[in-house]
Amino acid sequence: MVTICNPHHRGHREFDISAIRKFTTMFALVVAALTVTTVSVGSPASAATASTSRANSALQSVVPGAWRNAIPNARATRLISGKSSTSAYRMGIWVSRFHAAKPAPLLRHTMAHEFGHHIAFYYGSQVVYGAAPTGFPQGVTSVETWADCVASAFSGVDKHGTNVKKHCSRAGLRWTKAWLSKGPYAHPRTNAAIHW
Ligand SMILES: [Zn+2]
Repeated sequence: MVTICNPHHRGHREFDISAIRKFTTMFALVVAALTVTTVSVGSPASAATASTSRANSALQSVVPGAWRNAIPNARATRLISGKSSTSAYRMGIWVSRFHAAKPAPLLRHTMAHEFGHHIAFYYGSQVVYGAAPTGFPQGVTSVETWADCVASAFSGVDKHGTNVKKHCSRAGLRWTKAWLSKGPYAHPRTNAAIHW
């Protein structure tokens, strides 16, 4: 029997760009250098207000309707503090205020990543909690890598949370895109086998 301490699969963490900006006036040169490397997506416009509705709008724009309809509870259900967004089976997506205030392309990437965990809950191989679907070329137990591939496949954004130790490879992305494009009804539901 497998037990885990935290039933919530951890979402991804990423570098706090907004914190860097707070130091702009004091360390302008350092920030300018960092900005070049960190602001690769979107523009540093005024910060958006974090909300679950903003997160769900991002989700709606990045995940195809067939997939959203297949897993209707895979949506932002609450805002949480900290910098990690989290998904749990049947509990939706808990979006960090940090992610929920991000520019739209990054928030879409985060929501697609978390939605990828929910796809795994319902269609995964169930080898471990959140395991990728059978056949995922980077290994079905590479839980974060699978979500990373789903995020890239849906959002087109090549970015990785810092907890994604093994990034989605070209082979992984190709396989994931093909798997996703078949739609939810082409794949067996496996969530009855979740026993964590
Ligand atoms: Zn994750």
